[in-house]
Parts: sequence; C-alpha cells; structure tokens
Amino acid sequence: MEKQIAVIRGDGIGPEIVEQALRVMDAVAEKYGHTFSYVEADMGGVAIDRWGEALPAAELEKCMTSDSVLLGAVGGPKWDGMPGDKRPEKGLLALRSAMGLYSNNRPARLWPQLAAASPLKPEIVAKGIDFIVVRELIGGVYFGEHRTEEADGELKATDVMSYAEHEIERIGRIAFETAGKRRKKVTSIDKANVLDTSRLWRKVMHRLAQEYPEIQYSDMLVDNAAMQIAKDPSQFDVVVTENMFGDILSDEASMITGSIGMIPSSSLGEGSRGLYEPIHGSAPDIAGQNKANPIGTILAAAMMLKYSFDMDEEAEAVEAAVSRVLDQGLRTGDMMAEGCTLVSCSEMGDAILKAL
Ligand code: NAD
Repeated sequence: MEKQIAVIRGDGIGPEIVEQALRVMDAVAEKYGHTFSYVEADMGGVAIDRWGEALPAAELEKCMTSDSVLLGAVGGPKWDGMPGDKRPEKGLLALRSAMGLYSNNRPARLWPQLAAASPLKPEIVAKGIDFIVVRELIGGVYFGEHRTEEADGELKATDVMSYAEHEIERIGRIAFETAGKRRKKVTSIDKANVLDTSRLWRKVMHRLAQEYPEIQYSDMLVDNAAMQIAKDPSQFDVVVTENMFGDILSDEASMITGSIGMIPSSSLGEGSRGLYEPIHGSAPDIAGQNKANPIGTILAAAMMLKYSFDMDEEAEAVEAAVSRVLDQGLRTGDMMAEGCTLVSCSEMGDAILKAL
C-alpha cells in the first residue's frame, strides 16, 4: 500500500519522539512492502514562531490532503503568556475541528512488565487491563450554551447538554467497529436514570447493537463505571461514552496503567483518516535531552496502521516489538525501575527497531 502521512513534530520533546516513530514506520514499510511518504507540517509553538499562528492554512491543508496525521506534542513555557486564542493548543483544536474528528479513542493497557507502576492492587492488575475508551469529542455539555446570570439576588449558572441522534449514532459506530477489531465487547456508559440525553444515547446504542450481533453489548451507569474501572478493569474491552463522562473516565483509565509516556490515542471522524498522538504533552522539562519515552508515539503510529490503514498484522508486530523490549528490561527514565537498564529516547527506538 502507498500512504501519505502528515507529520507534526511540534514542540518540546515532540521532534525527538516523532523521529523514533518514523523510524519504526519505515521499518514496517520495508518489512511488509508498503510505501509511506511523509509531509512535514508546522503546528503549535514552532508554527507561531515561524508563521505567526498556531496552524496556518497551508499547514492545515497538508493534513487535510494526507491519509492520516501523526502528531508529537505542542506547547511550552515560551508561549504560555500568549492570549488564549493565540496559544499553541489552539492549533490542535483547529485541526480536530477542521478534520471533523468527533471520536477520541484512548487505550488503557497495562503492560505486564510495568505492572508495578499501576496504583491498583496486584491481584486486580494480575487479571489484566486492556480496554479502550471511545469518547464523543465535539458534542454534549462542553459544546452547549454556557451562561451566568443574576436571579433573585444571586448568580445562577447554566450549562446546556444536548445530543442529537446522529451524533450518538456516529460515535456508536466507531465503538462497534473498534470492538470488531478487538475482543468484540462494547460497554456503553450513561446516566440514563437521570438524564434525557443519556436515555436517547441508550436508545440509539440499542438500535445500533442489533446491527452488530457479533458484538456483546451492555449498558452501565457512569457512577458504577467509575467504580468498576478501579475494581475490575479486566471486564472492559471497548467503553463508549459522551464527552464529559469520557473526559473523566479516560483519565481514570490512563491513571490505572501507571505510565503516561506509554499511552497513545487516536481521533477519528468520517472516513479512515485520523489524528494519532501520545496522550502526554511536550514535557519541556526534559526537551532536547534525548530522555523522553517514545513508546506512546510509536504505539500511536501502530494505532494508525490498525485503524486507518487496516494493517492489523503490522500494528501487532509493532506492539510485539515494544513488549519484547520491555521484556529485555530496557526503560526510559519515566518508567525506570530497579534491576532495569536505563536507555535514552533514541536507544529505545534502536531497540524497538531491532525487535521488529
Ligand atoms: P506533560 O505531559 O508534558 O508532562 C508531565 C510530566 O510527564 C513531566 O514531568 C514530563 O517530563 C513527563 N512526561 C510527559 N511525557 C513524557 C515522555 N514521553 N517521556 C518521559 N516523560 C514524560 O504535561 P505538562 O507539563 O502539563 O504540559 C507541558 C506542555 O505540554 C504545556 O504547554 C501543555 O499545554 C502541553 N500539552 C500538550 C498536549 C498535546 O500536545 N496534545 C497535551 C497536554 C499538554
């Protein structure tokens, strides 16, 4: 296959970690007979410095005309003082919106080799953690009307939460399709005992579930879900939920795996094009020191192979290479433990390439 990938290296550790991910992509291309071409796009602080804005139209165009986008991270203290609409992160919001990305997908996977980093009890961790939170990204209360007014001598604030059927259906489809590529189980999280939006959510999900008879479907209330993620995360495969619940639950899910540098994410919309990035930021405290953990970005590239390019075998080969390197006891500083070998960002890349 031939694929064009827009590459946004970004700020801080972004360029270092993206470099390692591209080396892995090149190795995959060679091993499996694909051609990946890369188009470099500026976004974030680097774009502000070079072009005067976080996401210039010409850079966005590169992303819009590529098969997918790989992003490192953006932002840093240099641009912290800028007004809200001029900040590096603005570029990310503009990119998500222009690409029509309504689904954010974040795996919570505990690598057995890093089990000690999980804050959960060993007997819970021993059952395994490997699920993905599919979060609706551009609807719900975050995008409803917000107002504060004076009423009866005090301030009163209101935030409006609304969902239309089509918004629920399209995120639901992503969840069912994702489950089809995994262990074929969807848990839909809502608050249907209280909220109308949740009752509609549940109705649409039930309708969709009938279209995917091979997928095992269940509902769960959000308060129970927050408990179950801490109590028995092994029960989940794909969790699908609305924007605010997803915001909270996906952070909880990342936390229980213990290592921020290891977690990738994808954002998807219509069609197969997606935005793939690690969940962490630009880590300015270690930028330029060849210390960063590149694995979150490498696994983001693996997600791209799987979910945008349908290259399941290739994605699994990358994940297996990561696992082998962890088995060898190689660790970057963020996940260093006793008895392991400390490696740099590029040495971690070398080791993954060798394992691949
Ligand atoms: P951060 O994720 O950048 O860093 C938090 C801590 O985790 C730091 O100690 C850092 O060194 C460490 N860390 C993060 N990624 C690591 C990796 N791959 N390897 C080793 N250690 C790693 O969060 P922050 O410090 O709150 O934010 C720094 C900047 O990043 C800010 O400007 C923020 O706005 C931006 N940010 C960007 C994104 C994004 O681009 N999607 C996301 C979050 C934050």
